[in-house]
Amino acid sequence: METYKPKRSRPSTVPNRRGRNPFASGQILGQLKALDKGGYAITHQTGGKTYPTGLHVAIARLFDSLGRPFALNVPIVQGSKLRADFLVDRRTAVFVGRRLSPHERKAVKNSGARAVLIEMSAARSDIVDSGLRVADLSNGADGDDSLRESRLQTIFLDDPSFNFDYAHILPKTEKCSVMHGHTSSALVEIVGSPVDGMVVDFNDAKPIIKKAIADLDHKLFINERYVTGRTATHVDLSFATVHGEFGLHVPKETTVLLEGEATVENLAQELLRRIAPRMPQNVEAVGVYVYEGLNKGTRLLARLQERGAEARRKR
Ligand SMILES: [Zn+2]
Repeated sequence: METYKPKRSRPSTVPNRRGRNPFASGQILGQLKALDKGGYAITHQTGGKTYPTGLHVAIARLFDSLGRPFALNVPIVQGSKLRADFLVDRRTAVFVGRRLSPHERKAVKNSGARAVLIEMSAARSDIVDSGLRVADLSNGADGDDSLRESRLQTIFLDDPSFNFDYAHILPKTEKCSVMHGHTSSALVEIVGSPVDGMVVDFNDAKPIIKKAIADLDHKLFINERYVTGRTATHVDLSFATVHGEFGLHVPKETTVLLEGEATVENLAQELLRRIAPRMPQNVEAVGVYVYEGLNKGTRLLARLQERGAEARRKR
């Protein structure tokens, strides 16, 4: 039996490097950054074992009290990347706090294991109260049906909270090379195979989108290639336009630097990058419709294959 390693581990401590400036190594800065992002580990333990969440602890205690033997973090088949959080009585695979992609469900089915998903949802809706959800994949509508050829479905979300204002500059164009603004709105579609009848719970998806939009609201968008200087708090921008040279000194906080020109197309890319990594595993694609002012805009649909890489790239 293996013990669980917490997913978010405590940053390694800084070794005592006598005579060396610890800041020079970047180690301390790295740690401060990790701490700033909440990079500490909460330890959940019971029976001398460490678990990733309190829910795991509760489940372990339940199995213990029922006298059911279980192993932790067990590959579904020999060498498989897919691991069950618990394997009970050597045949029931219990997955905690996550959903399985159609591919993973097939792998579980092929392994002959019975699979149970247990998750704690903070979401509240008209039909599903917040709390514990348990799905037995081996029986009922959530079982065999979803293990069979799964359907691909889109949900979409449109909400007044997805409206935002932004300023942008497109130095290469004539009209839009002068800083100006738009009031815009976004619509987001999420494509995936329903799990327990849902692609994503609307109540789970909405705050993710709302946060991404809020982070873009009332910001200045510009291509990062026009940056000529940076201080701790500001960036200097300089660019030539048909109207002549522009120079700006703007706070970092209110500026979003893009890898390309600040077109609505690239703005949609920025929005998508902030939403996609936070979608559950059963989501296969995310689409964003972003308006530029009224009556025009763009749609970007992106497959989510390398979400890990995308998330890492996005600091
Ligand atoms: Zn514009």
